[in-house]
Amino acid sequence: MKQLKETLQRIDRKGYKAYNDIRGTFTFPSFRLHMDHIQADPYASPSRARVEINHRQLHMDKDLYESGHRNVAFTDYVARSVGKALRQQKAEKSIFIDRPGQEILERTAVVCDMEKVEVRLSIHLPARGRTIMGVQASKLLTEQLPSVIEQALYNIDMEGLKKHVALSDDQQALRAYVEERDALAFVADGSILPRVSGVENRPLDPDRAISFASPETMAATVSLPHFGDIRGMLIPKGVHVIVGGGYHGKSTLLEALERGIYNHIDGDGRAYIVTDTSACKIRAEDGRGVTNVNISPFIDDLPNEKSTDRFQTDNASGSTSQATNIIESLEAGSRLLLIDEDTSATNFMIRDYRMQQLVSPDKEPITPFIDRVRDLYEEEGVSTIIVVGGTGDYFDVADTVTMMDAYRPYDVTGKAKDIAEEARSQRITHESAPFSVTSTRQPLAKSFDARRGKKEKVDARGKHTILYGKETIDLSAVEQCIDPSQTRAIARTLHYLAKKYVNGNYTLGELLDIYERETSSGLDELSPFKGKHPGDLARPRRFEIAAAINRLRTLSMQHER
Ligand code: ADP
Ligand code: MG
Repeated sequence: MKQLKETLQRIDRKGYKAYNDIRGTFTFPSFRLHMDHIQADPYASPSRARVEINHRQLHMDKDLYESGHRNVAFTDYVARSVGKALRQQKAEKSIFIDRPGQEILERTAVVCDMEKVEVRLSIHLPARGRTIMGVQASKLLTEQLPSVIEQALYNIDMEGLKKHVALSDDQQALRAYVEERDALAFVADGSILPRVSGVENRPLDPDRAISFASPETMAATVSLPHFGDIRGMLIPKGVHVIVGGGYHGKSTLLEALERGIYNHIDGDGRAYIVTDTSACKIRAEDGRGVTNVNISPFIDDLPNEKSTDRFQTDNASGSTSQATNIIESLEAGSRLLLIDEDTSATNFMIRDYRMQQLVSPDKEPITPFIDRVRDLYEEEGVSTIIVVGGTGDYFDVADTVTMMDAYRPYDVTGKAKDIAEEARSQRITHESAPFSVTSTRQPLAKSFDARRGKKEKVDARGKHTILYGKETIDLSAVEQCIDPSQTRAIARTLHYLAKKYVNGNYTLGELLDIYERETSSGLDELSPFKGKHPGDLARPRRFEIAAAINRLRTLSMQHER
């Protein structure tokens, strides 16, 4: 630390480049500081540093971070604690950590192994114009930073940390229970589903929200290790239809299930909502590109005689994009599709009797989802949870029907089946090609060109955009990618896979397996700053990585021979 002070004194008022002299490792009384990367000028992206603290100094109970899910919860809590200390000590304009939101994701912001905890920070080194402000820098690095670490790590809110870790045990147990019961999801009584607004992920004020209460017929009680007994709605495998009047909370329930693939913090309202982690939200996405996808289970005989078992387009329609999104999710290994009428193509969802009479089957290329949803479950074991307020024809294919009425769920399966029996639908079931869930598509190396000018450039812009060389990948319809740090990690993964593995010998599914295997002990592997500072990544699922690859407009796929 003394050495760092002296260097900063020496380079005070020199040109910005002289900051390079503080690259390296400095020992402080309670941690080591690695200055890994020094920004080239005051306007470049900030410098990168790691604070390394040995467990021998920190004295935290091993139990808190030893196992997989606890490690994620532990590091998540430490990242929150550092973020809070930075704000409270008014250092958040100069020192940054990739701060978690409502979800608890595996992140690279804080890493903890059996020897040490490492906190990854970005730091704006102070300057006036391009002149080093050595005194301020010294204050920042040798006073503020140690004081933040003191508060955030050595004086961490131990009660809060233990609760956070205990919650992760309960969430783990709840997921195990849902799997054991061969179910899709669990929504605990008392959960708060609605959010503050469409763009705000925090819960609606409890005074204004109606909390969830399971219908008796669908209720189950689970015994969690810390919480104890908890009652909620257990959604069984199969075809689950959610009905109800407009504005009665259907989409809100489906959105909560979409997010149930992630764990949520205490107080979020969704801490005890879990969904099968392979669940994929499926929606229409007209305009997207499609590369060599077999959508023939849904769509056949297009008017321009385009092949649909190797469907290719730069500009998909509502129905072809929705069909593509389903087939691609199956290809990546999804076991549960989540569909909302609000974001679906009507002609993909349903075609009623009258329309069948007017437009004869040989003139209609689409086999609507209603005619495939049972096959998907019975032949492929893929379940569906679907919101349809507009048509009762879905009663025929449903295993369960839940009605949302003034934000409360009711089991109306029996009633719906009676109605279906009384008023038989005259619809004719459409027959079409069988599903082939195992895909043989192999991405080719030429798809991935990271060059932009003389350099390679692969990066993320916010949550919805990846820049890959000269290409832009649009993820705005990939709703379960929820954090910009996930998007960054997806960008890194694409580049990583392209460099090492994409050569026309691996199917997309195999590439996703490789991603999971190679990052099984952490996402640092993906970073270009490996061993130094990859502090701004959060783990994406294989489905979101597949979604990004599938939306690359230069994608070229061959079929395995
Ligand atoms: P639907 O899909 O049935 O038309 P939404 O799910 O979009 O209805 O909900 C309509 C509105 O009601 C939204 O503004 C939503 O935030 C709010 N809302 C949903 N569930 C609840 C609830 N449990 N308590 C209070 N407000 C809710
Ligand atoms: Mg809706």
